[in-house]
Amino acid sequence: MSAKILLIEDNEQNRYLVTYLLEHAGYRVIHAPDGPRGIALAQRGQPDLVLLDIQLPGMDGYAVAKALRAEELLKAIPIIAVTSHAMAGDREKALAAGCDGYLEKPIDPDTFVAQVARFLGSGPGAEPRP
Ligand code: MN
Repeated sequence: MSAKILLIEDNEQNRYLVTYLLEHAGYRVIHAPDGPRGIALAQRGQPDLVLLDIQLPGMDGYAVAKALRAEELLKAIPIIAVTSHAMAGDREKALAAGCDGYLEKPIDPDTFVAQVARFLGSGPGAEPRP
């Protein structure tokens, strides 16, 4: 069974591109356009990894990460922040909010899947990290 990735992203074009790249590489992708729906989907879908846009309308990515970390069943799932903020302070904020790493926007289609795979293990069929 291939790894399941939850993408929380409000921008439709980014959602489409990330979904396309990951599905093409063999991952399963579920997605939500905002924080509250993303958290609900994480509870229902039990993803192996969360890709989290930081700039979301309403509840921002930092708040979403904190909410996911506060849930017993979700706190072990790796969360990767996806942020266009290039400043070190924003990365630290993402890590402080409970994210395990971050990727920068705009995403590079040539390296994106490999970057995601690093956080999961070796590839789509890899066992999720404990
Ligand atoms: Mn956004």
